Amino acid sequence: MAIVPTMGALHAGHLALVAEAKRRASFVLVSIFVNPTQFGPNDDFARYPRDLDGDLSKLARSGVDIVFAPDAQALYAPDDDTRVRVGAVAAPLEGAYRPGHFEGVATVVAKLFAIVGPSTAVLGRKDYQQLLVVRRMVRDLFFPVEVVGHPTVREPDGLAMSSRNAYLSPDERTGALAIVRGLDAAARRFRAGERRARELERLVRGPIQEAASSIDYVDARDADTLAPVSDEIGARAVLVVACHVGRTRLIDNLVLGEDAPPLEGESA
Ligand code: AMP
Repeated sequence: MAIVPTMGALHAGHLALVAEAKRRASFVLVSIFVNPTQFGPNDDFARYPRDLDGDLSKLARSGVDIVFAPDAQALYAPDDDTRVRVGAVAAPLEGAYRPGHFEGVATVVAKLFAIVGPSTAVLGRKDYQQLLVVRRMVRDLFFPVEVVGHPTVREPDGLAMSSRNAYLSPDERTGALAIVRGLDAAARRFRAGERRARELERLVRGPIQEAASSIDYVDARDADTLAPVSDEIGARAVLVVACHVGRTRLIDNLVLGEDAPPLEGESA
């Protein structure tokens, strides 16, 4: 059985994960749970988009076998008192900007794995660090689960699909494309032979600086450990971005040499 864990407000990215799960298992479960423990006090838990009816009708056409949409009390009993904490790979980037976030993620994924007993879990590479955190937890806690990372699904103009894109005004939606232009420029220069990490970061940062209200990070990191890349890119590297466009926090990433430039095939 394959599980696709989600927080609902489903879009075509989630449905691509479901299709991947269908290819890998004869029985597919989608969980829909806006997990309170992975949101900080200043995060958007209260206003996170919720649309269970809409989600169910999208899933009805997706070939999913069962939808598991528990309420918070079902996963967190009043006396719940256990948390799963992953170490180094959870510490930087999202871990630094959203304290406690990955502890909430690892804990809820462990609970879902324990309840559902999947042999496969399909997660998106859109949340690249989350994928590494779940892989680490699965290895260290001996969960008999194969974790599959599905490539980021993008809108036709390159913006990574996200439930949070619904927060963006039309102007902000246009501004958010700066992330795509930055990652695209860096991916092309990497392809042309550029290996200097700071130069690739500069290329990503340039357009984002113009459009974002603030930048949390634009970093080249080791694609397996998320350790900083000091100078030249040698091993696999990922460019990771987190910024605010208006009040909306967006993240994106690109694995150099692996992910195609996001605007490839576009006229832009
Ligand atoms: P979410 O409910 O949006 O937090 O995400 C549920 C799962 O869908 C996670 O594994 C995400 O990484 C994945 N996901 C979300 N957006 C995308 C996307 N644009 N492409 C691929 N996977 C995605």
